Amino acid sequence: MNDLNPMGTMSSAHDTLPLAISVRGLAKRYGDVTALDGIDLDVPRGMIFGILGPNGAGKTTLIRLLATLARPDSGSATVMGHDVVSDPQAVRGAIALTGQFASLDEDLTGRENLVMLARLWGFSGSLAKARADELLAAFELSDAARKQVKSYSGGMRRRLDIAASLIVTPGVLFLDEPTTGLDPKARQGVWKMIRALAQSGVTILLTTQYLEEADQLAARIAVIDRGRKIAEGTSRELKSAIGSGFLHVALADNGRLDEAEAILERTLGATVQRSAEGAQLSVVAGSTRAANEALAALISAGIELSDFSMGSPSLDEVFFALTGQPMEEETGGEAS
Ligand code: ATP
Repeated sequence: MNDLNPMGTMSSAHDTLPLAISVRGLAKRYGDVTALDGIDLDVPRGMIFGILGPNGAGKTTLIRLLATLARPDSGSATVMGHDVVSDPQAVRGAIALTGQFASLDEDLTGRENLVMLARLWGFSGSLAKARADELLAAFELSDAARKQVKSYSGGMRRRLDIAASLIVTPGVLFLDEPTTGLDPKARQGVWKMIRALAQSGVTILLTTQYLEEADQLAARIAVIDRGRKIAEGTSRELKSAIGSGFLHVALADNGRLDEAEAILERTLGATVQRSAEGAQLSVVAGSTRAANEALAALISAGIELSDFSMGSPSLDEVFFALTGQPMEEETGGEAS
């Protein structure tokens, strides 16, 4: 393990910004399961804030509590200054949700869905159509506007889900795993929209189990595991807190991975992590001198390297260092 202070005081610059979300000691149980175990969180206005954690970490529960879809057992939370327990109506007026909550009519076209939702918000017929067209253009869906939603690809569907939650611009947008199950290209398309939204001033609380997503999008990241926050900071802070002297090696012969792992552990005295595909070994070396010694030990054992580098750890390695476990692998997810 590393010596990262789990609740880290890694940055305080955000302390002075007005808060969109403030959470203190939030806890929620479902029967015997502790879904959230006393979470503290401050999200400044206008930021993309990432909640990163594996399946079952409590991400959706946190969003449900903040969106007033469930009540906390203890602790408190405000969203745009409104208390989620004592003033849920005001909270609902300030937020929008997407993820599993979005409800689109599959048989209607994308445009018809948005027009219908805008009418529900009280827009006149012509204003509803204008808003729908504006959102379709912003989310690069104009070409598909007149096609039924059931013919949309997964990425188009997610973009329409997000557009549907933005008929009226919210103060805070909750995005619950917005790209789970999407292929990399569709994921990039959704990311582009999320970035553009943040630039327009909307605060975004984004949950994800994809490390790269948090890395790419979030200005700050809270890592949660089993209902607890185990670290918080910018991606860079989280990485540097566990050491920048990370040694990555790839072997010419993967049949010798076990042997190489044992040598690295022995020479560096740290736990070695294997990449998901098993082809790369990563370990905290601490200094280039220590890394050189470890590499020399591999070479003198006759283990040939196909690649090696020193650098920052990935967020994957951060999660491993914090919890002693890898993030769960992608489970494939649904195609839509
Ligand atoms: P995932 O990525 O799988 O959605 P998550 O981080 O969003 O995971 P939650 O859905 O918040 O996790 O679940 C946290 C824990 O609480 C899990 O063990 C889950 O089974 C449990 N849980 C969540 N909602 C309920 C519920 N309504 N009834 C019973 N248990 C629940």
